[in-house]
Amino acid sequence: MIPFNIPPSTGEEVLFVQKAIANHKICGDGEFTKRCSKWLEDKFHVQKVLLTTSGTTALDMAAFLCELEPGDEVILPSFTFSSTATAFVLAGARLVFVDIRPDTMNMDETKIEEAITEKTKVIVPVHYAGIACEMDAIMRIAQKYNLKVVEDAAQGVMSTYKGRPLGTIGDFGCFSFHETKNYSMGEGGALLINDSRYNERAEILREKGTNRSRFLRGQVDKYTWVDFGDSYLPSDLNAAYLWPQLLSADKINDFRLAIWEKYDRAFRDNPHIETPFVPDGCVHNAHMYYLKCQDIEERTALIQHLKSKNIQAVFHYVPLHSAPAGLKFGVFSGEDRYTTKESDRLLRLPMYYGLTDLEVDQVIEAVKEFWT
Ligand SMILES: *Cc1c(COP(=O)(O)O)cnc(C)c1O
Repeated sequence: MIPFNIPPSTGEEVLFVQKAIANHKICGDGEFTKRCSKWLEDKFHVQKVLLTTSGTTALDMAAFLCELEPGDEVILPSFTFSSTATAFVLAGARLVFVDIRPDTMNMDETKIEEAITEKTKVIVPVHYAGIACEMDAIMRIAQKYNLKVVEDAAQGVMSTYKGRPLGTIGDFGCFSFHETKNYSMGEGGALLINDSRYNERAEILREKGTNRSRFLRGQVDKYTWVDFGDSYLPSDLNAAYLWPQLLSADKINDFRLAIWEKYDRAFRDNPHIETPFVPDGCVHNAHMYYLKCQDIEERTALIQHLKSKNIQAVFHYVPLHSAPAGLKFGVFSGEDRYTTKESDRLLRLPMYYGLTDLEVDQVIEAVKEFWT
């Protein structure tokens, strides 16, 4: 069986997890948490990165930092994971979904402006498959209407838009280190803060509402409860698992890109399927390789065909605006021209660090065979 995903591992994880145990420091903000956040800050030129327990909680933090009031509105795509939406529901917002572009499956930047009302406070671009949204246009709109931008870059670690790392362009960026992502700590994520005015509030939010971080830096002589918060610190054991992958980040990225290119060479001229589009100025991280079939029936048949060849291919999101919680917390702005139609056609192929050349060949052959 060729699975859809195997969690990334360099083989050195056990050594570092043992080191964390030997340090007698397995709670949050130990040596490895510090190493990982410093690495992320240096690599992506971010003034502050905080490791979190998941990509979802990084989004929760970003949503709280936007200081929304009941009835405020947030603009996001419907074609995304529930995490993108639920973070803003927790923070008290109404959701306004906009359609995606069929070429990149990203939020259609030309549909944002008509979704803006007096109540709009935040735009949440999701960089699907690690391929950037049109950030220049999105940032221009945000500036014009004085809106915040939270980038859901859960899939975009190591990708860039016009030379700028994803997650560093908006006010906040959110990474995921879930086991299905390019770099993993089991469950985990990171919040990227691009404006230092939010640092202190973010630390308080992450540390159960206390000013413990200021205390540890010697800026106050005792620590106390100062605001609402939660516990968003991952265990240092998880950070120790992530650390060797960050040290091998370029190697892992190159490995994935080679698979992606191989799939793309095999499929881009196939008249039966559509393949991913990478706009000029976007450098991606090969988070995903997807195909788009004619329709949902053909996709179901292709998944079955691949399964019969011991290959696991999977579809992706059911659009949020049609889900029970989406109906309750949000509304679709304008026409759903592409969200439902395109998500029905999309199928993801096996893609992970360690997938062999031979296995990629098997997948390619099995897909081609479907139409012969
Ligand atoms: C994976 C993912 C998340 C959530 O990350 P977790 O670490 O699993 O909580 C959020 N948004 C998108 C687009 C994702 O792909």
